[in-house]
Amino acid sequence: MSDDEGVEEYLFKIVIIGDSAVGKSNLLSRYARNEFNAHSKATIGVEFQTQSVEIDGKEIKAQIWDTAGQERFRAVTSAYYRGAFGALLVYDISRRATFDNVARWLDELNSHSDTTVARMLVGNKCDLENVREVTLEEGKSLAEAEGLFFLETSALDSTNVRTAFEMVIREIYNNVS
Ligand code: GDP
Ligand code: MG
Repeated sequence: MSDDEGVEEYLFKIVIIGDSAVGKSNLLSRYARNEFNAHSKATIGVEFQTQSVEIDGKEIKAQIWDTAGQERFRAVTSAYYRGAFGALLVYDISRRATFDNVARWLDELNSHSDTTVARMLVGNKCDLENVREVTLEEGKSLAEAEGLFFLETSALDSTNVRTAFEMVIREIYNNVS
């Protein structure tokens, strides 16, 4: 398939937000490259990766942005959010503080984007069941209250990683098509 045949193409910007070390970069590398890094270090500057998905026979390019460490300074710039059609808001199920901060991230997201942005709450590191501090139910009910999609994921063992990104991509597609 090519442009010459009149195939529609879509490019969706998606941002990943949430506290430091919840696994944002690893979720992206697991999804885009099927890679996991146990010792990943925050790099400086904003980065994104592009991933192609086919929905209803149409090629969708998801341009997925990673904060690349800005979140340590408690401010992600408005340029980061600009033009985003979707967002994954990530916490770590083994650290309650990262769940408590979800409200803050949601405020920031809301102040930079309109209500049509597809939003998913992601409880990452669900492989760490033995040190869990946030229950599945808590994640679910927060998501319900805030009108977010919700999944628990593991970038380590791949649980729900593809599904999380692709639910957001599909929702964006439904919103724009
Ligand atoms: P970021 O700061 O949110 O981008 O987080 P990173 O992706 O850099 O991950 C922070 C740390 O958590 C790293 O040591 C990762 O190896 C680890 N990590 C990320 N995702 C998972 C996961 O799903 N399970 C486990 N057990 N560790 C993870
Ligand atoms: Mg990172």
